[in-house]
Amino acid sequence: MEIGEATSVPVKGTIRARDAVRRVSPMLRRYSARALDLILPPQCPITGERVASPGQLSVSGWSRLNFIDDPACARCGAPFAHENGEGAECAACIAEPPSFDRARAAVIYDDASHKLIVGFKHSDRTDLIALFATWLARAGAPFLREGTILVPTPLHARRLLSRRYNQAALLANALGRAKGAPVVNVLRRTRQTPPQQSLSAAARQRNVAGAFDIRPELACDIADAHIVLIDDVLTTGATLSACARVLKKGGAASVDALVLARVMRSGEAI
Ligand SMILES: [Zn+2]
Repeated sequence: MEIGEATSVPVKGTIRARDAVRRVSPMLRRYSARALDLILPPQCPITGERVASPGQLSVSGWSRLNFIDDPACARCGAPFAHENGEGAECAACIAEPPSFDRARAAVIYDDASHKLIVGFKHSDRTDLIALFATWLARAGAPFLREGTILVPTPLHARRLLSRRYNQAALLANALGRAKGAPVVNVLRRTRQTPPQQSLSAAARQRNVAGAFDIRPELACDIADAHIVLIDDVLTTGATLSACARVLKKGGAASVDALVLARVMRSGEAI
């Protein structure tokens, strides 16, 4: 999903400096990192408060996050205000079932998680990745099982060049390390699509229709496999649905989706 620019995250220089430190030798890195902590103290990406080390949140930063728990739509994971019975789906999923089997998100996409995700996506806050992996593991517990293959949603090559990394691939790799699950970059974008953030749900679907396909050399890896698609944010589910459609057509047995945050549609519970 495309979201706004990182105007609210004031730590880009700090993180670039930390990336430079990571590239030097281990001993020098240790001393350099300590020195850097003194010069540029690590900050909570949500509140800007000083924290003990990079990749941490302050207490007040934690308190501003809204983690998603049951009850929720059995299909898309939208939180319900009250129990609706096992297997209950939301109105949107009943009206137009998505192509993925289930989706789950760690947190609600709000002001606090926006700062986290924009920092991660556009301001090199890759120090947050270990934290995000634990959140994904918790949210994906219902469908992360032995034999699961993780597949990140792909960026177009041109966008990857300008951004330098695919945030979905970083999330998939971190979760894969934590859970011992293989990551297969089997999807590719066949065309660069305009940013989704200003589009309606219907326009989002049109925007990503036919925008993905399977890398032929990896096609055999997904035959009859249980796949968990990884992305940063679920808005309408159009991108994840388009990817799931391609994976199922390519022979996957099932496709679930796991994201850091989901945008709440009007009328959904918080
Ligand atoms: Zn739903």
